[in-house]
Amino acid sequence: MEIQFALLVSWVVCALLMALLAKHRGRSAVGWTFASLVFSPLAALPLLLMMKNMNSEENIPANLMRCPHCSELISRDAPKCKFCGALAATQAVEF
Ligand SMILES: [Zn+2]
Repeated sequence: MEIQFALLVSWVVCALLMALLAKHRGRSAVGWTFASLVFSPLAALPLLLMMKNMNSEENIPANLMRCPHCSELISRDAPKCKFCGALAATQAVEF
């Protein structure tokens, strides 16, 4: 009984770790937690690592850029960042 409880706790902890990894890679944390719990965290790990990282710079649309102050995605035409309020974010990044 104790070993079954330990396995269950390990399963849930691993599923939550998959949620953190999924969020870090720009994927749905809730969806990957559910998938890890239903299938296996051991199957989710290689899948997550093989899938494209949605947070990488190459996946940013051409009309968006990262704010140099808070790193949120903002429009290239915006006069200031809507998240942190930094002024002239466009001029700060484009040389
Ligand atoms: Zn900002």
